[in-house]
Amino acid sequence: MKKVALVGGAGRMGQSLGEHLNLLDAVAVTTLVDVNEPREHFGARYVTSLDEADPTEVDVVVDFSHPDSVVTSARWCAVHARGLVVGTTGLSDDQRRAVEDAARSTGVIMASNFSLGAVLSERFAAMAAPYFERVEIIELHHDRKVDAPSGTSITTAARIREARSAAGRASLDEPTRRHTLDGARGADAGEGIRIHSVRLPGLVAHQEILFGGPGEGLTIRHDSYDRVSFVQGVAIAIANVDATPGFIWGIDAFIA
Ligand code: NAD
Repeated sequence: MKKVALVGGAGRMGQSLGEHLNLLDAVAVTTLVDVNEPREHFGARYVTSLDEADPTEVDVVVDFSHPDSVVTSARWCAVHARGLVVGTTGLSDDQRRAVEDAARSTGVIMASNFSLGAVLSERFAAMAAPYFERVEIIELHHDRKVDAPSGTSITTAARIREARSAAGRASLDEPTRRHTLDGARGADAGEGIRIHSVRLPGLVAHQEILFGGPGEGLTIRHDSYDRVSFVQGVAIAIANVDATPGFIWGIDAFIA
């Protein structure tokens, strides 16, 4: 049984993880860390900062909060030799480096998307990438998401780029010559792969990867309808992280 501290425990993800991780035999949520008081406590101790947490009550820190807070979590885990699972997105290069530095002292698993469907859709996109001339990504999220484009779409674009480049496919040329409205073609995620971000109430996390080739198209779509979709992947990460130093990006390697 792994004892877990949830950083961002009062947030939408923290509350969903607190409820559903506690149902698993392999996990006990012992500590909720948040600057705001959580609505539900799930029998865990509530603290406003990891510095107030009891290290003997924590094997793994799971952080779904804010990029600034991830740096604090990384340092705490490095000092106390506790595993770290990071789901928070929108980290700057410096913040990402701080997490990687911590991974020299303890184990870290970080992913932009812990839902198994999303992990598999990235894998399928990498399989399809060499065979289609063009590709664009549309990511759709709830209207309170603060970063854009989504971490998942950036990771997906990177995997597609790698697969295209390994197959000797050139960068995508941009056909648009005149922009009637700025931004209409979305963001260039490298080598001409475009990401379009949609924000609407009622959505959770959704992504379409659209491939186009001569006379055909292929769309890979994934929908997280509920935050419970991330629980299984987070549980896999918790099971696979400990104080052994090392940085692992994504949970793909743990899904056969
Ligand atoms: P949210 O705004 O509902 O919750 C964030 C929580 O973090 C809030 O309760 C806030 O009070 C808390 N917080 C902010 N700063 C803090 C600090 N310094 N110390 C402690 N707590 C702090 O957001 P959310 O929808 O739960 O998402 C949280 C993060 O998780 C976002 O970055 C989101 O993109 C990411 N996310 C990742 C995945 C994934 O699979 N990797 C899935 C969903 C969401």
